[in-house]
Amino acid sequence: MTIEYLTLQPSGDKMPLIGFGCAKIDIDATPQVIYNAIKVGYRLFDGGANYYNEKQVGEGIRMAIKDGLVTRKEVFVISKLWCTFHGNVREGLQKSLDDLGLDYVDMYLIHFPTALEHVPIETKYPPGWTQPGKTQVTRARVPMHETWAQMEAMVEEGLARNIGVSNFNAQMLMDMLAYCKIPPSLLQVELHPYLQQDTYVKWVQKQGIAVTAYSSFGPASFAAGGQKHAKSVESLFDNPVIKDIAAKYKRAPAQVALRWSLERNVGVVPKSTSVERMKTNLDALNWKMDDEDIQAINQLDMGLRFNDPLIKGWDLPIFL
Ligand code: NAD
Repeated sequence: MTIEYLTLQPSGDKMPLIGFGCAKIDIDATPQVIYNAIKVGYRLFDGGANYYNEKQVGEGIRMAIKDGLVTRKEVFVISKLWCTFHGNVREGLQKSLDDLGLDYVDMYLIHFPTALEHVPIETKYPPGWTQPGKTQVTRARVPMHETWAQMEAMVEEGLARNIGVSNFNAQMLMDMLAYCKIPPSLLQVELHPYLQQDTYVKWVQKQGIAVTAYSSFGPASFAAGGQKHAKSVESLFDNPVIKDIAAKYKRAPAQVALRWSLERNVGVVPKSTSVERMKTNLDALNWKMDDEDIQAINQLDMGLRFNDPLIKGWDLPIFL
């Protein structure tokens, strides 16, 4: 298996184009799942404080290092700053590092462009979206330029090799590019054939910022989680265009969705707890798709977003 990489700016670090998504994995199963993923060849792990399993992700990585499968330098570890830590970045990152059992992360992302009222670690961790005892989110008066300055300090202190953002729109990024000392290296956003955001992706890449897609399988993980909106949409795996292309190349529909992303130079972080599917997904690296097939998938765009705080019921219209 040849791993392909994106070169990050300004560090020059190489980030695997395909990685493993660490969200929504049963906590107790997580160490073995991560270990298995390393064994089959994954070298990037996309985690975050609010995934509730950073300790177990760290355990899996450290088990693999102990068994000689990889060295720390050969794995690219991503963590994400949760919204309640926008004014306390060092505290948030240090907690993630302690949980992971690592000295540094390769990438630290601001998970969402919205600051929520701080929740002390002793009170509740991970804090989730709402303050203890509240049923709606409480925004905090922490402007993004202050959070970003604290993120930059994490690079200067060697706790994060690269910093970036997730779920940011173009306005937020344009503003950030006007004040940052260290530009964001990576944007991670929801991208799949039903939500392509082509103009945005190309513009971001033109700024020298790498792009990673999350939820490459569109409605799949959200339908599995019971989201009504996602359950009402045709699965990407059953979409006739995707199925025909999969048949043409004798590939799985999941590989077609991933390959389409890689053809745009957009990284992916698919999640599966099955070793067979882990291998299938990683194998999206080893083939090419004809331009006519890319064009056919480009026609599937419906602007359909599944990971929106508004859908979860939070009064946070971040994508408007
Ligand atoms: P995903 O799009 O990777 O889909 C996962 C679902 O697809 C699961 O139900 C799995 O069983 C199924 N699946 C996996 N491989 C398959 C295959 N080969 N064939 C058929 N079914 C298959 O899931 P996701 O969790 O939405 O996204 C992946 C990762 O993206 C997350 O784990 C997380 O790391 C990241 N993410 C980030 C954000 C963010 O806000 N930054 C939000 C969501 C997800």
